[in-house]
Amino acid sequence: MTLPKIDVPIYDITLPSNGNTIKIRPFVVKEEKLLLMAIESGDNENIIKTTKQVINNCIVSGDIDLEKMPFFDVDYLFIALRAKSIGESIETSYVCNNMVDGNKCGGIFETVIDISNCTVEKKDDITMDISLSNKLSMKMKYPSYSIMKMISSNENNFQKKIRIIASCIERITNGDQVYSSKDFSKEELVNFIDGLTREQFVKLENFVDNLPSFAIQTGGVCPKCGSEHKIKYTDFTRFFQ
Ligand SMILES: [Zn+2]
Repeated sequence: MTLPKIDVPIYDITLPSNGNTIKIRPFVVKEEKLLLMAIESGDNENIIKTTKQVINNCIVSGDIDLEKMPFFDVDYLFIALRAKSIGESIETSYVCNNMVDGNKCGGIFETVIDISNCTVEKKDDITMDISLSNKLSMKMKYPSYSIMKMISSNENNFQKKIRIIASCIERITNGDQVYSSKDFSKEELVNFIDGLTREQFVKLENFVDNLPSFAIQTGGVCPKCGSEHKIKYTDFTRFFQ
């Protein structure tokens, strides 16, 4: 005799980037364990790999390639899965950092994060087609989840930005010539960016500085000094701790 097979519910999720609907199931205990172990290991590469693996397992329909999806769609899927699997609200506490009479307040207050309340903030005036001179232009794409998470935080900001820009290039057009980024290595693309003028670079920098961001707002009132705090979350792995 075998134990009964467990039926899991299926949910529709609409992707923020293109409005397409896909079907997901919540993650099961085994998968939650994998995520927790990855987070506890503190190994960034392991966290990314496990997160993608669990998301992949939970997608039950739709032709989805996480590597090709914009990073904020993957973040969104992950949050949606967390909400459907564990629950939509997470209680946390904060320490108030307000300065009161020259000292940190230190008051502790509780808040509840409602993860069904997440939003993708997209700037309307950001274009995917960037003109660098009258002959030279670039078609951009959003970076993938792996790229956004792997670019290590100890790298300085400028270097990090150049690597993100390089991974956002879809193609380069110079007069009649079109160069697809697929045909070039990351190093070649970085070298190309290094050769741009300051003015041209600023246009690309503006693109990555204004990438859509995925955020959840919450807030609370400090019981000690009475000030109101608005808190914005953009890192989601901590929702599993
Ligand atoms: Zn306070």
